[in-house]
Amino acid sequence: MKKDIKSLTLKELQDEMGLIGEAKFRAGQIYRWLHVKYADDFSDMTDLSENLRVKLKENYDIVGVRQVKKLVSKEDNTTKYLFEIENNYIIESVFMRYSYGNTMCVSTQAGCRMGCAFCASTIGGVEKSLSPSEMLSQIYEAEKDMGEKVSHVVLMGSGEPLDNYDNVMKFIRILNSKEGKNMSQRHITLSTCGLINKMYDLADEDLQITLAVSLHAPNDAIRNEIMPVSKANPMDKLLEACRFYAEKTKRRVTFEYSLIKGVNDSAQNAKELASKLKGMLCHVNLIPVNDVKERNFVRSSNETVKMFEEILTSRGIEATVRRKLGSDIDAACGQLRKRYKDEMMRSDRK
Ligand code: SAH
Repeated sequence: MKKDIKSLTLKELQDEMGLIGEAKFRAGQIYRWLHVKYADDFSDMTDLSENLRVKLKENYDIVGVRQVKKLVSKEDNTTKYLFEIENNYIIESVFMRYSYGNTMCVSTQAGCRMGCAFCASTIGGVEKSLSPSEMLSQIYEAEKDMGEKVSHVVLMGSGEPLDNYDNVMKFIRILNSKEGKNMSQRHITLSTCGLINKMYDLADEDLQITLAVSLHAPNDAIRNEIMPVSKANPMDKLLEACRFYAEKTKRRVTFEYSLIKGVNDSAQNAKELASKLKGMLCHVNLIPVNDVKERNFVRSSNETVKMFEEILTSRGIEATVRRKLGSDIDAACGQLRKRYKDEMMRSDRK
């Protein structure tokens, strides 16, 4: 089988050149073609000899993603892509414009196995964990398509990044490499549903990325109801891991809290949350839940969201309500991918 050359770090690519009897410096040239010029074919690499290009083609694949659908929000220009990988799996990625730069929401798996009750990505389980090349290509393809640069990345598409740990670490290192796209680690956010052991591993990586933790509840009783992963990863231990991460990396942890009417949005819930987060270097992102028609969840009213925010901030917990982008194009949380797959299934059956 051919090796996936876009998933190799520069160091690994240098070692590969040794294996195929080429000079080490060739690795730098190839790496640049892949990660700066976004070549999808060895024949594009015009500063390499014809011989070397043929040899590369024999030994390696350039793995990418293929755009199958693109939706542009009329409200705010948010662009959602459906990409196909390996002629088989569908993933979604979102390109968003913020005042500080363009942000790409990247998927780390096709589907997800974490089972959160409010999330459409998990409904069909996990189909595939993506390679570094497949994660990088979501950004590269969007940049080519938009003719604009992406300066920030959030790992908040489908999948649980810490359930695809090694590939995600490599993705971050390649994205951050100065010979590649050279994206600042501080511009990369990894969002997890809270796999505690892996969070400790992550703290040991000595990265300067932002860690976002999907909390969505002030206690285990509520969390167990909406996030099955919580049973093996209870809240006191989870918050301990967050404190450890913040102290070790000196980076503020972000908590994601989706407000669901009647489930986790009472004044009492807000007070309990505030008391648990007291003293931690953190920030709470409040997100009115996106209705998922497969589930019976309804978003909290604007007044409730405001009340929740005020209780947190008045108790010294930094909180903001996240601006919602692209609501007219199902930009949220696996809904477009699911709809597309449902349509494909229906047309297969015909
Ligand atoms: N698996 C990771 C990252 C992917 S989900 C995680 O759980 O963090 C990215 C964020 O979207 C998470 O905070 C997730 O809980 C949230 N999310 C999923 N479905 C949602 C919905 N219907 N409304 C609001 N947020 C949702």
